[in-house]
Amino acid sequence: MDSARTPTSPPDDVRITAATSRALATEAVHAGRDDLAGRGLHAPPIDLSTTYPSYDSRGEAARIDAFAATGAEPDGPPVYGRLGNPTVARFETALAKLEGTESAVAFASGMAALSAVLLVRGSMGLRHVVAVRPLYGCSDHLLTAGLLGSEVTWTDPAGVADALRPDTGLVLVESPANPTLAEVDLRAVAHACGSVPLLVDNTFATPVLQRPAGHGARLVLHSATKYLGGHGDVLAGVVACDEEFAGRLRQVRFATGGVLHPLAGYLLLRGLSTLPVRVRAASANAAELVARLAADPRVARVHYPRIGGAMVSFEVHGDPHEVIGRVRLITPAVSLGSVDTLIQHPASISHRIVDADDRRGAGVGDRLLRLSVGLEDVEDLWADLDSALGERAPGAIPLREALSGAE
Ligand SMILES: *Cc1c(COP(=O)(O)O)cnc(C)c1O
Repeated sequence: MDSARTPTSPPDDVRITAATSRALATEAVHAGRDDLAGRGLHAPPIDLSTTYPSYDSRGEAARIDAFAATGAEPDGPPVYGRLGNPTVARFETALAKLEGTESAVAFASGMAALSAVLLVRGSMGLRHVVAVRPLYGCSDHLLTAGLLGSEVTWTDPAGVADALRPDTGLVLVESPANPTLAEVDLRAVAHACGSVPLLVDNTFATPVLQRPAGHGARLVLHSATKYLGGHGDVLAGVVACDEEFAGRLRQVRFATGGVLHPLAGYLLLRGLSTLPVRVRAASANAAELVARLAADPRVARVHYPRIGGAMVSFEVHGDPHEVIGRVRLITPAVSLGSVDTLIQHPASISHRIVDADDRRGAGVGDRLLRLSVGLEDVEDLWADLDSALGERAPGAIPLREALSGAE
């Protein structure tokens, strides 16, 4: 197995901002809510307005001009829902606090967030992207297919500096990566990027385990659909970054419309308040399952990152489709980061859209299964996995022919 080490989670009381000197667990429940007590509220209000009345259209014109110039959040009430929403802004404020960045900009999904970043850079004539595989399957596809006019050079972390060109607008990495959990030395890659912005997809680690901005990443992306929401009922994305880049992202969001619904913003803010507790509890379950899988003769290899976390990948000697078909407590479904445990076969689902040779070349083998460990009792989880893994027959069972065919 890759790593039998005990995960090295940061201490619970890690101070995330020198300015406030509040711990991450404190910010998780208080950030984005500073004004509530003064307004006589406890739960944050949900503002579902799509438009906002104003008798001062000269003032509106000035606010729109200011937004067009800098992308800064308009003062006072928003003009129109696509320009900004107060409930969504609470989530953005809180996530920026947790990631240690000036700002954050929320989108309708993780893919909408990545698209906005590519559009910002492409609109500046910087269409070339340097990226490290593996990435989430659809991120790989968006770059490979050039759907937004970008051109990608794939490299390994050590090759980033050599892959940069005058028109390189972005360097993109995931760490731990989906689905192999491969880790990238963020500080070294940030150094190799020079002045080119480094985007780190931090979906798997969450700010509880890793804050890439502190390692030199200019952009930190989340599929908030996963751990930030945490309950499998919100589709969302967010980019945490400096205010200058955030302004450009808001302008693209305004012009292209990939906004987050305010109710989703509310649910995400609520999700953040339990994020540290959920991530630590699920990670403890994951570490226990990693130890049992690593000792199991039906399992060929276990992948688990040094920073820990609640994601585990493993390769089976037998047919992975059979394992998926036999789980009963664990949900056989794509996605991750929910309170319940999910399992999926990346070569069939999350990374199906990636060319098979590219996929295998990135370490996403046909026998790899990806497990998103939830908050159930670990003995119940192991009982389900144990029966799903099937007979404890020694030695490798040949891959069934069906496995190589499309399904
Ligand atoms: C799911 C995922 C995405 C895409 O996010 P959506 O919210 O599904 O659009 C991006 N990156 C990673 C690592 C993911 O797991």
